[in-house]
Amino acid sequence: MAERIHITTAITYSNGPPHVGHAYEYLVTDSFVRYQRRKLGAENVTFVTGTDEHGQKNRDAAAAAGLKPKEFSDRIAALFREAHKGLNISDHIFVRTTDPVHEALVQRMLQRTYDCGDIYFKDYAGLYCVGCERFYTEKELLPGNICPTHNTRVESIKEGNYFLKLEKFRDEIVKNVRREGFIRPERYRNEALQMLSEPLDDLCISRPKARLDWGVELPFDSRYVTYVWYDAFWAYLSELPDNSSEALSEVLPVTEHFIGKDILKTHAVYWPAMLLAVGLPVYRHLNVHGFLNFGGARFSKSSGNIKDPVSFERAYGPDVLRYFLLREVTYGLDGDFSEERIVERYNSDLANDLGNLTSRVLSMAARYFQSEVTAQAGTGNDPLDGPLCEAFAATASKAGALIDDLAFNRSLEVIWQALDAANKYIVATAPFTIAKDPAQLSRVAQILANLIEGLRVVADTLAPFMPVTSAKILDLLNVDATLARAQFGQGIKPGHRVKPATPLFPRIEKPKA
Ligand SMILES: [Zn+2]
Repeated sequence: MAERIHITTAITYSNGPPHVGHAYEYLVTDSFVRYQRRKLGAENVTFVTGTDEHGQKNRDAAAAAGLKPKEFSDRIAALFREAHKGLNISDHIFVRTTDPVHEALVQRMLQRTYDCGDIYFKDYAGLYCVGCERFYTEKELLPGNICPTHNTRVESIKEGNYFLKLEKFRDEIVKNVRREGFIRPERYRNEALQMLSEPLDDLCISRPKARLDWGVELPFDSRYVTYVWYDAFWAYLSELPDNSSEALSEVLPVTEHFIGKDILKTHAVYWPAMLLAVGLPVYRHLNVHGFLNFGGARFSKSSGNIKDPVSFERAYGPDVLRYFLLREVTYGLDGDFSEERIVERYNSDLANDLGNLTSRVLSMAARYFQSEVTAQAGTGNDPLDGPLCEAFAATASKAGALIDDLAFNRSLEVIWQALDAANKYIVATAPFTIAKDPAQLSRVAQILANLIEGLRVVADTLAPFMPVTSAKILDLLNVDATLARAQFGQGIKPGHRVKPATPLFPRIEKPKA
């Protein structure tokens, strides 16, 4: 059977419009998805994203907007769908946790867990943070019973609730977390093991309707809805074409979750417990990214993070925000976001290295050979040819392996090293100078054949990161999808014609968005 893979972003808590932090997770995940589709075939890759619409914070945000919760969720879900389109997120399943098919799966799993005896009822008195939607123990709180996340005093609440047993699954969860590469990068695996070394309190998975009625009703007690987290996890699976337990047993071992570091515990501890409780296997990888800092602050009204991320796409053109975020941020670590830095990267990497190379090569081909390729790439016997051809020949496999390892920035570095080699090759071989001597034209033909074939490999390798730019360059090179994928030296042949140069990334002077 063909290898398949199921990839998800976090299901976004939908109490506000999308910001640049969301965009980072979507873009990084989408680049991974695009790479896997090229590698495994599009039909073997599923991609799920969506909105997490239940819970108290959503209900409160709706009330503040003067709307019913469902009306409010409809608006937010529409904003996220728009953002996906504006950010050129590839084909995906958009799950809303208020969709009936999703709610049905949540109820099925709750009932099964209850029937197994892993959900039980007890009276519980505890300290509850409305913002976090969870109970805290006193030692987790700041002095004066202040929530460490929200800096507000938690409420003392006493009520009967349903709980999911957690201790029972600890050994199995720990076994998974210890698995090499289960949580990536490594630092988050260590954090998760630290969390698992403490006693696990059973997870409260219900909310009385008297307090909160915006959620999925418990199938075994209509006075309650389920906790928003219990509900949301199933969105990773609920709207796949087949969500039967048999199908999910096959999908989970090939499931890759992409999440932010703030939701590590819920994914490393609670989600595996929920799966194990219904007899399903645990997912394959948890891929954890850091936060974006905006001029030193994570959230600030004056900085770019409250800006609509699509505005960057409109201002700088397709692929620029995506390129910037994936090149600039090391996956797993926090990264800095600034528009000044986008402009620097744009001018140096895109306008200079990539854009100029493309126009120079195509201009020379037009000028000296009426845009025809008249030599076979990779066959020159000049000592400068060998290293260049080797650099191009290795680019695709090196860059690909780094994407598999989530080293997106290093993958892009490999592609830019090839561009750098090409630009240096032009300087060293000086085709525009030797072209003045008719006796040297065959050498010029060889140089251009090497560069054009190299540019084809670079454009093809760039496809997961810069889908629009990649397609544009391949179009200028006049190659179809099959030819685009060929190994270096086996693509463009003598007699092939390329198109005239058009500017890809005109230089810019200052921030535009
Ligand atoms: Zn809180």
